Amino acid sequence: MQQESVVRGALGWRGGEVDGARCDQEVESALRAVRAHLGMEIGFVSEFMGHERIFRHVDTSLAEPPIRAGHRLSMDEGYCRKVVEGMLPELIPDTALIPAALEIPETVLLPIGSHISVPIRLSDGTIYGTFCCFSSLPDRSLSIRDLQMMRAVADMVAAQVEAKVSSQKIQDSLKARIFAALAAGGPQMVYQPIVRLTDMAVVGVEALARFVGLPQQTPDRWFADADAAGMRGELEFAAMRNAVRDFFSVSQEGLYLALNISPKIVMGSDLVAVLEGCPLERIVLELTEHEHVEDYDGLYRSLARVRARGVRIAVDDAGSGYASLRHVLSIRPDIIKLDLSLTRAIEDDPVRQALAAAIVAFGRHVSCKIVAEGIETDSQLRALRALGVEHGQGYLLAKPASAGDVMRMTGRA
Ligand code: C2E
Ligand code: MG
Ligand code: MG
Repeated sequence: MQQESVVRGALGWRGGEVDGARCDQEVESALRAVRAHLGMEIGFVSEFMGHERIFRHVDTSLAEPPIRAGHRLSMDEGYCRKVVEGMLPELIPDTALIPAALEIPETVLLPIGSHISVPIRLSDGTIYGTFCCFSSLPDRSLSIRDLQMMRAVADMVAAQVEAKVSSQKIQDSLKARIFAALAAGGPQMVYQPIVRLTDMAVVGVEALARFVGLPQQTPDRWFADADAAGMRGELEFAAMRNAVRDFFSVSQEGLYLALNISPKIVMGSDLVAVLEGCPLERIVLELTEHEHVEDYDGLYRSLARVRARGVRIAVDDAGSGYASLRHVLSIRPDIIKLDLSLTRAIEDDPVRQALAAAIVAFGRHVSCKIVAEGIETDSQLRALRALGVEHGQGYLLAKPASAGDVMRMTGRA
């Protein structure tokens, strides 16, 4: 864990920021630029793996190149090992002038007339592989300057290789951590009451995930980590299933259950199957507006299937400065949840009041309920009531608690 955070810190990594695909793209564009600049027929990056070298990236001007990315060759074949071991020079403008090059079968078979090759050395001194370019004809214009450029690019390739390996390590460790949380039956769920502000009756609850394992971090960080590890769906569905199971086992009637889900997980998943067996007319799906949505039509269609079965949709964190208007227009939610940044200091801030009032008026027009999040003080509660906000959630009203405790609190146990 400590190692993971050291690596993250070193990379300034914030979840998926250093991704392997981007590292590969950088290497490929550098390779293309160098090969084109040298005017050589083939350029490649190879990785040494035991007795073999693997061609990780190949760039070529030939229609039928003799090597392609993914090919493997024995370390004993070709130039790479001999260059690294000093048996061949790095810069060979004309192979016919180098007896050791002529001894290599590929020199004649391919043929190879000119060759330039440098080791890719990682920061701990180990050799990852080689960065090479070659052509069938000799090229006497190749110079020490070209070699220096190859060395500079090899250093850049080494940095990208290390970034990719580190990012892979982080991903593996995130994955292991999330697997462990799931294997332990997590995440545990707590439920925060949602209250009608006119008579303070509890009308529903929002399910919120809690993680007992390390590192101690907020649930949104856990979900972001799951995203970076490619496991967001697994974690979100586990949270939904646990919430549904625990809540409906103690709550027979009445209260609705709001479940958080990210738009990208909604798309392409069968929510009806995930929510199988629970009273769908008591389910609200909260879609955060923090996430960028590429395909609103697709999202709308995915939501339509569960909506047709009675599920309601809320836009979460509205007013937090992301895409709320777009979300609201495209999703046509049943509920809009005002972000806690809007509730904070609403009693003293005419701008926040104006925005909340506009959303309330909009809600009335389109029959959309408004829930204010994060109510912590009496003065916030009074201000929100005065603005006509009908529902609220926050520490002043009730903190998140177990399903049983919420039922006892509301007198429904
Ligand atoms: P959210 O969906 O906007 O949830 C509301 C957050 O506000 C919760 O934080 C809640 O504990 C907190 N909160 C409630 N009342 C107050 C208050 O009066 N003052 C303040 N300052 N905060 C209050 P929490 O539980 O830490 O969750 C943070 C975020 O993590 C959630 O924001 C949601 O985006 C995500 N999250 C939590 N559980 C789940 C889950 O099961 N699935 C998914 N997909 N996301 C979840
Ligand atoms: Mg929410
Ligand atoms: Mg929210």
